[in-house]
Amino acid sequence: MSHALKQVFNKDKTFRPKRKFEPGTQRFELHKKAQASLNAGLDLKVAVQLPPGEEQNDWVAVHVVDFFNRINLIYGTISDYCTEHSCPVMSGGPKYEYRWQDEHKYRKPTALSAPQYMNLLMDWIEVQINNEDIFPTNVGTPFPKNFLPVVKKILSRLFRVFVHVYIHHFDRITQMGSEAHVNTCYKHFYYFVKEFNLIDTKELEPLKEMTSRMCH
Ligand SMILES: [Zn+2]
Repeated sequence: MSHALKQVFNKDKTFRPKRKFEPGTQRFELHKKAQASLNAGLDLKVAVQLPPGEEQNDWVAVHVVDFFNRINLIYGTISDYCTEHSCPVMSGGPKYEYRWQDEHKYRKPTALSAPQYMNLLMDWIEVQINNEDIFPTNVGTPFPKNFLPVVKKILSRLFRVFVHVYIHHFDRITQMGSEAHVNTCYKHFYYFVKEFNLIDTKELEPLKEMTSRMCH
């Protein structure tokens, strides 16, 4: 295990247990299928496509959970460097500033530091993906009507993690030698949201140039 990963696992604050798929369930099989095509070195653009005969919502649910786990881990590796002091505002460069809003403490969009914002963001996603009413684990339990809107919100928020990490902490990522890993995760994420049209083009703007260089 790399030093950076160890740090994540030792830090209670940033480490969240992975949401796992129960072996034997359809969702677990789908998760394995998605992993297998990635391991086989399949083109990421092809790997994100819905396999024949599978339900799109199942496929999307599996990927959302997987992206959450992976992006949470990526942020964990730089979180020691993302502080109230270094990042008093949750931003993506001087042009983009994100405000947090939820149904609890921050009913109005509120400017927060990046670490505060990230904590709320990860907590919020964790609640959504562990909510049986939104992400049912039992095969045959239908997905709710608001499944796609919730998924879109989760993915838009996860995208902001990439924006902040790429624009403000990429030197750290390079120092740790995890540039290729982060880029692969980003590309996979990008092709996926594009394939199913899950994030508004406007939201993708902060990384537009980088994306056009990276994803053809
Ligand atoms: Zn930061």
